[in-house]
Amino acid sequence: MKISSLKHGLLIGFLLFYQWSMAQIPVDSLLPVRGFCIGAPQSSRVDEFVQFIEKELAPRQVNTLILRVDFNYEFKSHPELRDSVALSRREVKRMVNACQKHHIRLIPQINLLGHQSWAAKTTNLLRVYPQFDETPHVKMPEKYQWPNADGLYCKSYCPLHPEVHKVVFELVDEICDVFEADAFHAGMDEVFYIGDDKCPRCSGRDKAELFAGEVKTIRDHLAQNGRTLWIWGDRLLDGKTTGLGMWEASMNNTHRAIDLIPKDVLICDWHYERPDQTPVYFAMKGLKVMTCPWRMPKNAVLQAQDMAKFRATATKTMKDRFHGMIQTVWSDAGSFLDEYYGRKKTDESGNTASNCFRALYEEIGKTASN
Ligand SMILES: [Zn+2]
Repeated sequence: MKISSLKHGLLIGFLLFYQWSMAQIPVDSLLPVRGFCIGAPQSSRVDEFVQFIEKELAPRQVNTLILRVDFNYEFKSHPELRDSVALSRREVKRMVNACQKHHIRLIPQINLLGHQSWAAKTTNLLRVYPQFDETPHVKMPEKYQWPNADGLYCKSYCPLHPEVHKVVFELVDEICDVFEADAFHAGMDEVFYIGDDKCPRCSGRDKAELFAGEVKTIRDHLAQNGRTLWIWGDRLLDGKTTGLGMWEASMNNTHRAIDLIPKDVLICDWHYERPDQTPVYFAMKGLKVMTCPWRMPKNAVLQAQDMAKFRATATKTMKDRFHGMIQTVWSDAGSFLDEYYGRKKTDESGNTASNCFRALYEEIGKTASN
């Protein structure tokens, strides 16, 4: 009896070890992109952020850092568009060096097309160049509230204005040069104002074609310098048919653009409230896709498991399109660091970007071998 139970124990032990060893997958094969996306730090927090890159991102094998820069840089091409306090070239280079040292791909973001205002404030591009406004007849409210009669969430620039691309592409080129980037994130999420009935250039046009046209224009410009375009995925999903609604999907018919955009545009597919399995849809359309959680650790873990499962079960043709996971933080780096290091009070539910980041990378670490 004793010998047979020993044998039995050994057998179970061996099976468990076998299962564990089979579950350990090299991290690059498990998820080619292991990302982190955050607002670029203010000048005064750059040193602290560099420490965070070295002490928190690098050890977790994060290999992609998307920094939302917008106008937080001392642009030489357009000084009139700089924020009042903006990152210097030297400060950017400190972050570039830290990332290069740890083999982290650094991708800058400037919001193009949409997100040209926030609440009651018009942001720099349309404040300085109001002629680019898609909806100049929509006046900014003194006190912003949602919903409102104008359907104003954020302003957009007019993608058919003949002078807008000269200005924005000078910004894009300068920011990509200083970040030494081979990819650029153009945002392009939550574009509610597009093809407005009152725009002399866009009225009456197909909104999906307008959206896809702008994606292609930006993509083609970047391609001239060997750079790839990354965008958020929400405008390419059908909000009505899927029930995903107007924020994380499109209710103004831009979703048909999914069949019109170049296939080398990378999709950052954000879903924060539920682990929706939309990566399969993007991948079947021929697009590389990365899932982006925000502040619900439970969802981030499920999304990481889904992404790994999609890769494990996909055809050889589709596998690489399931391209990874990106933790998204919707604050600037300074506020996040205060939260992360416990210097400010956070949501008691535990649903915070810091906890989500920790949970996501714990899950990735569990499944990956080095
Ligand atoms: Zn227009």
